[in-house]
Amino acid sequence: MKDLLKKSSAYWVKYDKYEWKHDYLMPAKNAIPSLYNPFKSMENIVVDALNIGRLCMKRDINNQILKAKIQKFACKYGLLGLMTALPTTVNFIDYDTVYIPKNRFINRETIKTDDYLKFFFPFSTPDRVLKIENDKTLMAIIMTLSDNLLAVNMSFMRDYGERSDWLKTQFSDLAFMFATSNLYYEDFKYLSPDEKELYRQSMITCDLLTPTYHIELLDKPTLVWDFHSLLLVMQMMFCFMLTDENSGLKLCRKCTKAFMSENKGDLYCRGCRNEK
Ligand SMILES: [Zn+2]
Repeated sequence: MKDLLKKSSAYWVKYDKYEWKHDYLMPAKNAIPSLYNPFKSMENIVVDALNIGRLCMKRDINNQILKAKIQKFACKYGLLGLMTALPTTVNFIDYDTVYIPKNRFINRETIKTDDYLKFFFPFSTPDRVLKIENDKTLMAIIMTLSDNLLAVNMSFMRDYGERSDWLKTQFSDLAFMFATSNLYYEDFKYLSPDEKELYRQSMITCDLLTPTYHIELLDKPTLVWDFHSLLLVMQMMFCFMLTDENSGLKLCRKCTKAFMSENKGDLYCRGCRNEK
């Protein structure tokens, strides 16, 4: 199953430090960017995202603790790339209007491109060109990513940021799907037909991004996914892991954290097993 994901253009940029500016998470001053392949950290990304989502779903969680966790996630994996994840096309930058399919954040189908960009460049005016002449590390990275589209590269700029409420929604949506799926099978015997239907419907209505793909004629015909955001990579990896019986992704029966099991019969995460 993992072979389906193996071939992909999923290189992503992360900075070593991020900070909250008002309610936006952005690269910190003088932070150093680097390039990495999310597929090499697939299990860690999904487990970390699910456990942040689990906290986001708690009503009594301290907002500062939550923001610190999201900040730590970004330092490990970068921002989610929401700007390129939401529109119908990643080429939106070439047009005056951005088309956005059903989503949780922007309550209309179309929005002027300049207004859309303001959601992600709250403290600057984006010029739709990359201003990286004086930023040698970033310039070197962008050159390596020569296939990348302008909008994707713009989301790696130092003045690009993502809103805390939007980030929290993405993390909690993922955790909601994970919890729903686990509860459904765990409680299956005790659920009424109506309850079962409710569980099934709530999974179907979860917003998932639609990836695009193409075929490359390498040593054999090869399916290549086009990823333009870490969010899409994360959602895909999660869906593959959730539906693959051998992936080892589990929910701890005691503390309800997500974890990767070492043995098939493991019901508890390592922390809870050590406590016993
Ligand atoms: Zn546990």
